[in-house]
Amino acid sequence: MTQPLPDTYRALRVLKDDQGTRAELQTLPLTALPDGDVLIRVTHSSLNYKDGLAVTGRPGVLRTHPMTPGIDLAGTVLDDATGRWQPGTPVILTGWGIGERQDGGYATLARARPEWLVAQPGGTDAHWAMSVGTAGFTAMLAVMALEDQGLTPGSGEVLVTGAAGGVGSAAVALLARAGHTVVASTGRPHEDAYLRSLGASRVIGREELPGLTRPLEKERWAGVVDTVGGATLAGAYASTRTHGSLAVCGLAGGHELHATVFPLILRGVSLLGIDSVTCPVQRREAAWTRLSRDLPAPQLAAMTHTASLEDVPALAEEILAGRVRGRTVIEIS
Ligand code: NDP
Repeated sequence: MTQPLPDTYRALRVLKDDQGTRAELQTLPLTALPDGDVLIRVTHSSLNYKDGLAVTGRPGVLRTHPMTPGIDLAGTVLDDATGRWQPGTPVILTGWGIGERQDGGYATLARARPEWLVAQPGGTDAHWAMSVGTAGFTAMLAVMALEDQGLTPGSGEVLVTGAAGGVGSAAVALLARAGHTVVASTGRPHEDAYLRSLGASRVIGREELPGLTRPLEKERWAGVVDTVGGATLAGAYASTRTHGSLAVCGLAGGHELHATVFPLILRGVSLLGIDSVTCPVQRREAAWTRLSRDLPAPQLAAMTHTASLEDVPALAEEILAGRVRGRTVIEIS
């Protein structure tokens, strides 16, 4: 039976005026929702680095104001004007510009295009989906990219940078589960036991990846999942083994890349770009199916915290300061 649609919804809005940018919880009429054929009751969202930037008003993420941030959401379909999704279907939405160009997951209701949605894999729920979220999905895309490029268990050590963060934690767990020897790089030495519990064989300090000193360094890494960018990526790239590859995901340490072409042309190293936002539907579905199979529940639980919409502004500052470990699910009510 079709549920009656609510008249209003609650959302965390980022507003911009003469006094600057601020985040505020508001109750809004349904007419405030953006265009989109599918109406979704959102029950869970998550906190990603990009959400931290958006909620704190840092430039570059929100394209207009006011805006509801939240690049991830999970919930159930209330209505789909195209008939593609039945009311009551549990769905996941990550990327496609929600929480950046169009209102996102930090609200009890959302509107979206039908082709943006992925059905929740069987046996999972919305909390699981958001403990994975964009970060876990990106980690999965990175692992798939390295494997497509020829990485197999036994190829050698695989480096994960920013390992205690959301993408990093999921990458460590997924790589270890797939049988790879994982080296986790972190600026938080006290997270050693946590990273080993996710499956890291070795944990190294951030300072052990000093950046680029020579165009070609000693060959160390069979593969790299990099969430940090900048000098860390430049150094890892120069230390990647012949025919190894790097899945480049993030810029938590810097967006620049000062490097030479030598690793590409003398070692056949591949730099693989990862963009979770525009990832095509088939690849998305394959990644979510594999996540439901291969991301071990105990490791996912160990890396996940749960918070409420009210907590998001404070948590946004924390994630930008590099103080949030693993993943944070946001319960929406
Ligand atoms: P988190 O904040 O959870 O993780 C980032 C981690 O990077 C931190 O935990 C920390 O790890 C490390 N770090 C932070 N600051 C620095 C610094 N100054 N120098 C070196 N390392 C640092 O963020 P997410 O995991 O959500 O995202 C990670 C990155 O990936 C972000 O840049 C994000 O924008 C990007 N991203 C890209 C996606 C894509 O589609 N390409 C999708 C999702 C995220 P530690 O404490 O272990 O050192």
